Amino acid sequence: MTAMDIHQRDDLAFPQSLPEFQRQFPDDAACAAYLKRARWPDGFICLRCGVIAEPYRIVTRPGVLECRACRRQTGLLVGTVMERSHTPLSVWFWAAYLVASQTPGMSAVQFQRQLGLTRYETAFGILHKLRAGMVRPDQDRIGGRPKEHVEVDETWVGGRTRGEGRGIHHKTLVAAAVEVRHREPGTAQDKRKDGRYAGRVRLAIAADRSAGSLCDFVESATMPGSLIVTDDWSGYAGLRKRGYDHHAIAECGDPEVAEQFMPMIHLVFSNLKTWLNGIHHGVSAKHLQAYLNEFTFRFNRRFYPFNAFRSLLGIAGRVEAPTYAELYSGVWRHPTCSGFLR
Ligand SMILES: [Zn+2]
Repeated sequence: MTAMDIHQRDDLAFPQSLPEFQRQFPDDAACAAYLKRARWPDGFICLRCGVIAEPYRIVTRPGVLECRACRRQTGLLVGTVMERSHTPLSVWFWAAYLVASQTPGMSAVQFQRQLGLTRYETAFGILHKLRAGMVRPDQDRIGGRPKEHVEVDETWVGGRTRGEGRGIHHKTLVAAAVEVRHREPGTAQDKRKDGRYAGRVRLAIAADRSAGSLCDFVESATMPGSLIVTDDWSGYAGLRKRGYDHHAIAECGDPEVAEQFMPMIHLVFSNLKTWLNGIHHGVSAKHLQAYLNEFTFRFNRRFYPFNAFRSLLGIAGRVEAPTYAELYSGVWRHPTCSGFLR
């Protein structure tokens, strides 16, 4: 399936309420019709014979369309996160609706209960597959706008001790970049924080605080030439050599200095930690990148909830999603915002 500009399609409405969702997607057939409309806005076209005609349906397999002329079968789910899944389409749609419409998201246990699934593993698998749809394969780098800058910092996340005694923590280093934007001068919203607000964010696990790790992150996450604001840690000192305009703030440990010069990144870190602990009660390092992706997705779409639903189902472009076995064997690598760890 080619990437399509599905976010501009008015004929693919996003349900604004629970009753609307139930009206729009009462069963698997309604979900299949939505997918078909997404892929063939001007009517189904057979890939083999090119005939444009309403295809045959197979009652027991709503994800399959059969050409009237040559009988070739076309899979509706190819290229979506639902491909190869035994879970009914209506459950997938319901899951994507829940994830897209609930601001903080939910744990796999809550999700299992909401969807009425008997197996925890199914809920866990669906959630992780939807998370795979949260990273666009072609995700671009942030920043690069004139008169705007990007704040970059790193923080330790997680860290429950595992009985080794006090002082030993299993924390993971997370690097973040966030755009700082400005509201129109003179508007009502201009009054808060001098009119500054957070634009898009990028988050990735970093191996360590070395210049190599941190500058690599900046390079993978932000546009060359952007003005990058960091604290005065030596790990960021090489940014100018890599083609960035770099501004290092001294005394960032002072809360007033931090609030003045790097307010957005601290807001992001505080929201991230609250979210990880509150919703997921801490997460393992193995799956942390997937949660960072989910946080990024929610943060960057907080102004556009409608687009999330289609992106999640993977119908806005091709998405590679893990199988349950891949998730647990460790074969599957959660995609990062910018391919940072590959
Ligand atoms: Zn055909």
